Amino acid sequence: MAGEPQTDCLFCKIVTGDIPATIVRESATTVAFRDINPQAPSHVLVIPKAHYPDAASLAAGDPQAAADVLREAGLVAADEKLTETGYRIVLNTGAGAGQTVFHAHAHVLGGRGMQWPPG
Ligand code: ADP
Repeated sequence: MAGEPQTDCLFCKIVTGDIPATIVRESATTVAFRDINPQAPSHVLVIPKAHYPDAASLAAGDPQAAADVLREAGLVAADEKLTETGYRIVLNTGAGAGQTVFHAHAHVLGGRGMQWPPG
């Protein structure tokens, strides 16, 4: 069923604590933790606790949780002191766009200059 935990999902295991992570924020519906392979001085992932494979399916299945992810991403940016310099929220969707973990997650990246278009 949509939103149910998946036994083979890395990020579901971070939600349950079965895999350790450096958690920086938590809400009723979300967890935010440091990316294990940071691509910027600040690189935090914000995930819904419920399992949806990508951001669009999260927004379709649980719009409130999708809004919560974006709110928490903004709060992470504030915690990381990124609001004045700017930051990027990235939602890679599909293998062709570089998604490797199929549990919805927002990358919050900042602390360095950003290029456009992204690679
Ligand atoms: P990509 O690997 O191309 O960034 P995604 O957008 O699916 O693809 O992002 C998955 C992210 O999850 C990666 O940035 C990766 O470094 C991160 N990651 C993978 N395993 C862990 C983990 N155990 N703890 C924290 N971050 C992780």
